[in-house]
Amino acid sequence: MSTQTEDSIEKVAGEVVLCTKCRLCRTRKHAVPGEGSTTARVVFVGEAPGEQEDNQGRPFVGAAGKLLTELIESLGLRRDDVYITNIVKCRPPNNRPPRKDEAQACRPYLERQIALIQPRVICPMGNSAIHELMKTEDSVTALHGIPFEVDSFTYFPLYHPAAALYTFSLKKVMEEDFRKLGALLNSLTGKAAT
Ligand code: URA
Ligand code: SF4
Repeated sequence: MSTQTEDSIEKVAGEVVLCTKCRLCRTRKHAVPGEGSTTARVVFVGEAPGEQEDNQGRPFVGAAGKLLTELIESLGLRRDDVYITNIVKCRPPNNRPPRKDEAQACRPYLERQIALIQPRVICPMGNSAIHELMKTEDSVTALHGIPFEVDSFTYFPLYHPAAALYTFSLKKVMEEDFRKLGALLNSLTGKAAT
């Protein structure tokens, strides 16, 4: 295969920034493909870019992102050691949840990112990402902090970090879930996982 036809994280990002496959392209300022290591052992998947992400074209750069970064660092990793993206790559107006057809239109980008990175663990954060990725309607309250095998991927569902900004007690729950995630990564890789 020639290098021109080979897929890459940069190629996906280049397509995302020009994408017009769903209505969200009409209201975005910047598409937000995702960022981080292309060989990450863990990929975090949020719901959709918010206002600051839309302004900057980068995922999780607001208050929820600050908490996510702290939690990643609690694993002994840096933000650039992991990969961070969202179910939909463009901000929904007024931060409404992404609609099913928008998530479906955007899905191939996430699938290509995951196929290229080949992470050990995928962490959907919050109900939107859990329901979209894990083929379940169960809630994050029931599923968080437990690994699941679905279609030969290992998922480790987490609360969305924004939830912990609104409900303080969830911050402790998230810290505990990240300790479990660290142990899972260690068990899968035999070392502090990057
Ligand atoms: N919330 C998300 O789900 N994703 C972001 O990128 C930022 C906030
Ligand atoms: Fe394309 Fe996804 Fe943006 Fe919709 S949300 S326009 S499918 S990149």
